[in-house]
Amino acid sequence: MEKTAKLREACVGCGDCREVCPSYGCGGCDPVSLMVGDYSGIHACIGCGLCSRACKHTDPHYVVMEMLREAKGLHVPDSYRSCGMVIEPSEESKTVPSPKFDGSDVRLMPGCVVKCRVPFLENAAVSAIKTIGLGCGELEGCCLYPAAFREMNDEERDSRRRELAGPVDGTPIVTLCTGCTMEMVSSGIDALHISEFLLQHVESLKSLPRLHAKVAVQPGCTSGKIESAMFGVVRALGCTVVNEVFGCCGKSTKDVSEKLMLQRQKECDGADVVVVACPTCFRKYDSFDGGIPVVHIGELVAIAAGDASSLCYHKISIPKLERKIP
Ligand code: SF4
Ligand code: SF4
Repeated sequence: MEKTAKLREACVGCGDCREVCPSYGCGGCDPVSLMVGDYSGIHACIGCGLCSRACKHTDPHYVVMEMLREAKGLHVPDSYRSCGMVIEPSEESKTVPSPKFDGSDVRLMPGCVVKCRVPFLENAAVSAIKTIGLGCGELEGCCLYPAAFREMNDEERDSRRRELAGPVDGTPIVTLCTGCTMEMVSSGIDALHISEFLLQHVESLKSLPRLHAKVAVQPGCTSGKIESAMFGVVRALGCTVVNEVFGCCGKSTKDVSEKLMLQRQKECDGADVVVVACPTCFRKYDSFDGGIPVVHIGELVAIAAGDASSLCYHKISIPKLERKIP
């Protein structure tokens, strides 16, 4: 609590956070009001963290995550104690065959949403990493991003993340979720998002059959610095990017997510497929009534390499993307 009070005190009321807050732009919460302790809009806060990326003085995301936990009465879920995940696997997810982990070049961290809701994205990621000649092992566990984990103090969250990451041995930790990347890096762990990892192997991507597709890139709100990596990967595969702006899907935040998704769909107009970096974004786009089909960036690479096996699990079917040998 002491830390939260100090962060509040450091706020100068400049409103820069308001300018970028996707919820505020849709009539949801006002981060400036939240910073002075007004809880009235807290249920419309997405927990996205864009406020802290804009703020030069303090850390509003830290403060609003504490407020979210308090206002919603959240506690560390039982599933974390039993299976190390913030959610239990859905019945649907149990029908997806497990990926074949056949190496130790990379430790792939799927995160809770992939593992328990859309596990086929992990299969596609394993396939994408194989195409660049590397083998994967798995790093299964929660990054402790959700607001419920604010019940633990910073030190405990850091120590649990470091325990999850294990000894530092130079093996890259590659995540499928930008939130996981952000949290692991915040604890000093050398993790990178799969789009950053794939871009490090851009020459291998350029040797794959060209994907003649018009794509819209939607990095998501927790994406930090991965936007350029995503653009680099899709262009290396031969895709044409149709959108210039992008934004937050709103997760499942009441009153704002529907409005935000309508904005995103408009931005993506003309695309054959939307490419995302985050499994929560993936689920939002893939369940949007009448929406443009979506793929995770790992899936796009797997498709270019000739493995489209994850696509049968999508709710919105994907048009066949033309592949041409370079
Ligand atoms: S939280 Fe930061 S950006 Fe927002 S009003 Fe305060 S100082 Fe300005
Ligand atoms: S976390 Fe996101 S939705 Fe919440 S106040 Fe910050 S920018 Fe706005």
